[in-house]
Amino acid sequence: MIILKGVTKSYGSTTVLKDITLRLDPGELVCITGKSGAGKSTLLHLLTGAEAVTKGSIEVDGVDLRSVPTPVMQLYRRRIGIVFQDYKLIGNLSVSKNIAFPLEICGVDDAEVDRRVTALLKDLDLSRHARSLPTGLSGGEKARTAIARAIIGKPIILLADEPTGNLDHDASKNILEIFQRIHKQGTTIIVATHDVHLVEALHARRIHIEEGRIVSDTKHAGGHAKEHHVLEVKNTEEPSAGRKKVKVTAIGG
Ligand code: ADP
Repeated sequence: MIILKGVTKSYGSTTVLKDITLRLDPGELVCITGKSGAGKSTLLHLLTGAEAVTKGSIEVDGVDLRSVPTPVMQLYRRRIGIVFQDYKLIGNLSVSKNIAFPLEICGVDDAEVDRRVTALLKDLDLSRHARSLPTGLSGGEKARTAIARAIIGKPIILLADEPTGNLDHDASKNILEIFQRIHKQGTTIIVATHDVHLVEALHARRIHIEEGRIVSDTKHAGGHAKEHHVLEVKNTEEPSAGRKKVKVTAIGG
C-alpha cells in the first residue's frame, strides 16, 4: 500500500505539488491525469524515491521513504519498474540487451536472464527484433521494449509516464492491452497521462491534478465512474478567481 500524506514538492520558490494526500491499494490501476505542467511526472518521481518530498510523507507498505537509508533505497528502487516518457532505451544495445539490463546490473545469472528475456520478447511480440537496435524500431516497438525492461525485474509497482504520448491509435490500444495483462498479474500500475481515452479504456481509477493539487479522484467500477471515499481532504485554500472550489475526496479504499 502506498500512502501520501500532505505531500508538497517545491523546486526553489516554485511549488509544483501542493498538499497531496492519497492512498493506493496493492494491485490498483491508477491514472494520474492533468494538463502538461500539472505535476504528474513530479508525482511519479517522488514515488520512485529518486527525489525527496519538500513537506509531508510517502509510505510504501508502512515504511516512510524519508527514513530509508540510501543502500536500502536502492533495493526499493529495484522493485519499481519505470516506463519513461521518451522510453530512454540505450541506443547502442539491442532490444534483448536493453530488456536484460536491469537484471544484468543486479548480477542475475545468465541462464535466468536469458529465460526471462526470451519469455518477454515472446509475450510482447518483439522476438523478431531481439537483435535490432532501438533506432530501427517503430514507436509501438520502442514502447513495448521499454515496458519489457520495466517489468523484467518483476516490480511491485509499475510507473509509466505518458506511455502512449507519441503512439498512433493501434499502437496505443496494444499498449493498454499490455497494461491490462500486467495488472491482472497483480502489479500496481500508475500511469501519468493526459489521454482521457486511455483512462476510460483501462477502466482505471482517475486522479486528476490541476496546478499541483488533486481536484478529483474517481474510481471506475463496473462501467460506472464512482467517487473514491474514505477520508475527505478539504481544499482549505481560497479558490483562485473564476475557479470553482472543490472538495477533494483524496484517499480511496
Ligand atoms: P506534467 O508531468 O504534469 O507535465 P511536471 O511534473 O513535469 O508536469 O512539471 C510540473 C511543473 O514542475 C512544471 O512547471 C515544471 O517546469 C516544473 N518542474 C518539474 N521538474 C522540475 C525541476 N527539476 N526543477 C524545476 N522545475 C521543475
